[in-house]
Amino acid sequence: AGSGKFFVGGNWKCNGTKESITKLVSDLNNAKIEEDVDVVVAPPFIYIEQVLNSLTPRIEVSAQNAWVGKGGAFTGEISAEQLNDIGCKWVILGHSERRHILGEASEFIGKKCSYAVSKDLKVIACVGEKLEEREAGKTFDVVFEQLKAFADEVPGLPNVVIAYEPVWAIGTGKVATPEQAQEVHAAIRKWLKDNVSAEAASRTRIIYGGSVNGSNSSELAKKEDIDGFLVGGASLKGPEFAIIVNSVT
Ligand code: PEP
Repeated sequence: AGSGKFFVGGNWKCNGTKESITKLVSDLNNAKIEEDVDVVVAPPFIYIEQVLNSLTPRIEVSAQNAWVGKGGAFTGEISAEQLNDIGCKWVILGHSERRHILGEASEFIGKKCSYAVSKDLKVIACVGEKLEEREAGKTFDVVFEQLKAFADEVPGLPNVVIAYEPVWAIGTGKVATPEQAQEVHAAIRKWLKDNVSAEAASRTRIIYGGSVNGSNSSELAKKEDIDGFLVGGASLKGPEFAIIVNSVT
C-alpha cells in the first residue's frame, strides 16, 4: 500500500434481491472496519436508495454507471443529477463489462467521467487489458490509452480513484500476482506523473481489481503502489469483504 488512504470498493454488479441485500447490509453494519480505510459499495441502481437508507454511513455508496450528460430522452439511463438527488456520492465508470460487453469506448467513458466530476460525483475509473493484449505485449499501450481518455477530459483528475482491472482476472478466479499488479500500478503512477502532474501521481489512489478475495488480499496490499481494491464476487459476502477491507492493517 502506498501513502494515500487505503480504498476498498465492492462492485455488486447485477446481483441481489431486496432480501439478499438486506442481509448483506446487515453483515456490513455488524462488521468491524478499521479506521484507516475508505470503503464504498456499488449496488445495482434500483437498490441504491435501500442501501443508502440502511447501511452505516461509515461505508459510502456508489452507482455502477451514469449517463454521459444531463438527463432527458435517454431511455434506460440514470443521470449524475439523479445520483446527486438521492445522495449517491460515487460512480464506477469504464468497468470492463461495460467496455467489452456493452461496447463503451474510451472517449465516451472519458466524457462520462468529465460530466460526473462536474456534478461533484467521485469516480472509480477502471482500466485494464484483455488476455490477448497482455500476451501480445500491449498491456501498457492499452492501459495508457484508457488513462489518457480520462485525463484528456478531466484536467488534473480530481476526485478520481483509478482501478486497474486486468480483464483476464475479473470473475475468473485467476488473480494477478502481486508482482504483476505492482508492475502496472507503478507504470500508471509514472504515467500520471509524466502526463498529468506529480501532485496527481502522489494523490491518486490506484486500486487493483480481479479475483481479489479474503485469502489473497493481504499479499497484494503489501505492494508499494497498490492503494486498495475493487472487489466483485467477494464483495457479495459481508464477512469476506470485511477481511479484504482490513487487509492493509
Ligand atoms: C470487478 O468486476 O470489478 C471485479 C474485480 O470482479 P471480481 O472480484 O469478481 O473478479
